[in-house]
Amino acid sequence: MSTTVKTTTCYMCACRCGIRVHLKDGAIRYIDGNPDHPLNKGVICAKGASGIMKQESPARLTQPLKRREGAERGAGDFEPISWEEAFSILEKRLAHIRQTDPKKFAFFTGRDQMQALTGLFARQFGTPNYAAHGGFCSVNMAAGMIYTIGGSFWEFGGPDLERSRLFVMLGTAEDHHSNPLKIAISDFKRRGGRFISINPVRTGYSAIADEWVPIRPGTDGALLLALVSELIEQGMYDREFVARYTNGGQLFINDPASPESALFATAADANAGPPGYPQNQLWCDRLSNMPVLTHTPEADPALFGHFQLNDGTPVTPAFQLLSDRVRPYTPEWAEGITGVPAATIRRLAQEMGVTARDEKIELPIAWTDCWGKEHKTVTGNPVSFHAMRGLAAHSNGFQTVRTLAVLMSLLGTIDRPGGFRHKAPFPRAIPPLAKTPTGPEGCSRASRWRDSPSVGRLHRRTSSSTPTASRYASTRPSRGSTRCRCTASCTP
Ligand code: SF4
Repeated sequence: MSTTVKTTTCYMCACRCGIRVHLKDGAIRYIDGNPDHPLNKGVICAKGASGIMKQESPARLTQPLKRREGAERGAGDFEPISWEEAFSILEKRLAHIRQTDPKKFAFFTGRDQMQALTGLFARQFGTPNYAAHGGFCSVNMAAGMIYTIGGSFWEFGGPDLERSRLFVMLGTAEDHHSNPLKIAISDFKRRGGRFISINPVRTGYSAIADEWVPIRPGTDGALLLALVSELIEQGMYDREFVARYTNGGQLFINDPASPESALFATAADANAGPPGYPQNQLWCDRLSNMPVLTHTPEADPALFGHFQLNDGTPVTPAFQLLSDRVRPYTPEWAEGITGVPAATIRRLAQEMGVTARDEKIELPIAWTDCWGKEHKTVTGNPVSFHAMRGLAAHSNGFQTVRTLAVLMSLLGTIDRPGGFRHKAPFPRAIPPLAKTPTGPEGCSRASRWRDSPSVGRLHRRTSSSTPTASRYASTRPSRGSTRCRCTASCTP
């Protein structure tokens, strides 16, 4: 009898731990963790170790099935056929669809993490109708965070538990980042970090949390709104981070009678910023009391107040709008929805704000930000979060996730040590990605770019031929004769 060991990846959950499969005479004897794998370093969970049961299950499909001749659709009456017969049937049917109208081919795959390949196949076939299991799972998590801060947990980043002091987990079951996260939480707690779990049930990760905050299922959005409201109310947000790294100081047109209301107020110079990515939004600089291009050196944006541009256009910083919007969402309001006592919500907001403010990390690493400002150190606010499907897969899941991203922004804990380690996929290169082809003829590289939206269209509000352009011409910096007519103090 011969024994062999094969190394591969566990597919019993989304974590993809490295495993060793021990075989005896070609049959699986048992599975254990691969100590040489960088992700799980030999750790394996009970589910992973039971992978043998899936492999050996008598219910597992091992050959193609075809509905029996004359059987009713939906009756589940199938017969096994050979692979040759299956490929021949598929080839005939797919060839006909591809020649006539490829869009009629809808391609749906399960949780295989091979979507780069399945998507490539669908695009080469010529159909835009392809999807995968993600649409039913935590896709709001990705969509909401990408929409708000450019990247999400899991795919594009995670909590920096090596440096964090406070770790808050919401709506997370066991199957995302499972073993690596368990290893990281265990080290984090040994280093004295505090772990708060907000979850309807105290199982899994919550079982080892320093504090478990039970919450009514599907109500995390209300809790997050109350935390945001409370942080602003108490002035516990990271003002410097909000002003420089969010759009909190950017001026919005605030005129309900105008079709441009709620759009950015912009300067006329279409060349401000790289092509297709104009950087001509405005701040009201509270030092000079002037409208200036955002990130003008030495300028400091007002976050609160209501102002007027020279032409009388009323404008308001985004942060003021956010503050107005969340003011009614008090801890008392959230208590009635979430079941979390208002006092607990206040205490959580306080703890997050104080930890971010008072336990700052300074790493002696010089860097230059994307506006060219040089920094001698990297600053970190050591409050980190992790959240998943529990937030995303409920009504308002998208907005719940966006609120979490706003909360993280207020705490200044994005793309910083001790916070959210972030490798953003966005913004993407300009010009934008090609559109999905609508047929086989659309698959050539030349036609893909021909179909893409032109870069020029992105300049609509900055073109000198639009009424908008002349309206804001006088708001560009270094034009001393043009002052904004602030109707409130620029001081928050
Ligand atoms: S956490 Fe468990 S089930 Fe998931 S991949 Fe790792 S070993 Fe497999």
